[in-house]
Amino acid sequence: MTEKELCRKAMDMLDRSYSPYSHFAVGAALECSDGTVFTGCNVENASYGPTICAERVAVFKAVSEGRRDFQRIVIAGRKDYCVPCGVCRQVLREFVSDDFEVICLNGAGEAKHFTFGELLPYSFDGSML
Ligand code: ZN
Repeated sequence: MTEKELCRKAMDMLDRSYSPYSHFAVGAALECSDGTVFTGCNVENASYGPTICAERVAVFKAVSEGRRDFQRIVIAGRKDYCVPCGVCRQVLREFVSDDFEVICLNGAGEAKHFTFGELLPYSFDGSML
């Protein structure tokens, strides 16, 4: 899948976002090593705590389907470049290495590229236990 196609899948998920409280829609598209894509959108809740981000929806969908071989993720927002929150970075850390590609889109569909190592240096993972 081309990067443009993967970006389109993340942007398409913006319309699935359930964000009646923040009005901050996020879409994500997580690509596995064989090209399989798992998508996600943020899902809010009236009591706020159970709210989940688009990236974690995509990761949990993939893991629950037996996949952990992630190679890149696209995260789309409607305004500024949408970077993953700290919780999502920690969840991704469980399954990805420092060279995992993170592509953040703004509302115009423009991309900023990061390696995971840039977004979460000196991170905590299972090797430290
Ligand atoms: Zn998050």
